[in-house]
Amino acid sequence: MENTQTTPTMPTSRSLATEAVHAGRDDLAALGLHAAPLDFSTTYPARDTRAEAARIDEFAATGARPDGPPVYARLDNPTVARFEAALARLEGTETAVAFASGMAALTATVLVRASAGMRHVVAVRPLYGCSDHLLESGLLGTEVTWTDPTGIADAIRADTGLVVVESPANPTLAEVDLAALADSCGSVPLLVDNTFATPVLQRPHGLGARLVLHSATKYLGGHGDVLGGIVACDEEFACRLRQVRFATGGVLHPLAGYLLLRGLATLPVRVRAQSRTAAELVRRLAADPRVARVHYPRLGGAMVAFEVEGDPHAVTAGVRLITPAVSLGSVDTLIQHPGSISHRIVAQEDRHSAGISEQLLRMSVGLEDVEDLWCDLDRALTLSSGRSERRPRVTGERRRRPALR
Ligand code: PLP
Repeated sequence: MENTQTTPTMPTSRSLATEAVHAGRDDLAALGLHAAPLDFSTTYPARDTRAEAARIDEFAATGARPDGPPVYARLDNPTVARFEAALARLEGTETAVAFASGMAALTATVLVRASAGMRHVVAVRPLYGCSDHLLESGLLGTEVTWTDPTGIADAIRADTGLVVVESPANPTLAEVDLAALADSCGSVPLLVDNTFATPVLQRPHGLGARLVLHSATKYLGGHGDVLGGIVACDEEFACRLRQVRFATGGVLHPLAGYLLLRGLATLPVRVRAQSRTAAELVRRLAADPRVARVHYPRLGGAMVAFEVEGDPHAVTAGVRLITPAVSLGSVDTLIQHPGSISHRIVAQEDRHSAGISEQLLRMSVGLEDVEDLWCDLDRALTLSSGRSERRPRVTGERRRRPALR
């Protein structure tokens, strides 16, 4: 049995690349191991019932991880704890709490505040479609005020429990000045969904965000084969999150925890390589007359959004190497039409006012060779423009310059 309490605190001076490989694993050598162990136990022997009862009482009262061996898999799992420790190191937070999915992580965070009577949420559009829906629908008994980043301070009320923002945002890649936004939140916890940037490109906690959320399903896992979510935060908030997680049951499976810890090891190299390819594709798309507009964050990254002049559905139908699929952050390139898929659940007028036009496509750039990707995109763009072959450019031809931002 592996004791979660033995995972030591890491020194703060190591680089992100080193942390990605070693964080959450520093005790392995002392355990005589090289790879992190995978613990599938749902329960653990506890012969001293009174002592076990005291540990359960302690968790119920505080939400702190019980000392000593784990109690029950819905409360704590050593493999998942390694992933939590590692992601906290990468995001520069005290700790982190993992969940079954990104949506389970957002749900638990909202519930922590709502159950304390703080039922009002302030949020900036666009958000991922299901995150938007969770807040807009009031499913969790909350009320939302949508605002632009400059309106945060005015939107905050006495019962505001949370400010929610994505930067770069899904799917438009709009960015906000996180430090300025954190300032205008005052004492209200700011939750930054850092799924698109990853800690390789941006660490929101250092800019003032109390809570940093990931759909771990995306870049943290990195291979399109694991679903998970995580909130990196301080121990005080983590205690509340663990209590909600224990009560509602949205725990990360140990195998998912194992795969996510393994995914973190290659996160910096994947994100950097994918970002280089994305930047080159952005350059070509921005110069292409079949493309009306390209969206790419100042921060960089491997997510690209672009609006086509022709039929966006012909692009998703036309790609052969690139997979037309929802989700992102995998080793292979994915493309999808947000208006039809990832943001379908958001009302059309809200999509449009958030900049999600019907022409918009969102592409998650993978690790393939840039020339192979361009060859595929080029053919699909020709299909979208309704031509069987790409029209040769006429020298001096007048055409609209695509805006790049
Ligand atoms: N946040 C962002 C930015 C996302 O893109 C997604 C999913 O696409 C989520 C959260 C939800 O994550 P999950 O699908 O792991 O529940």
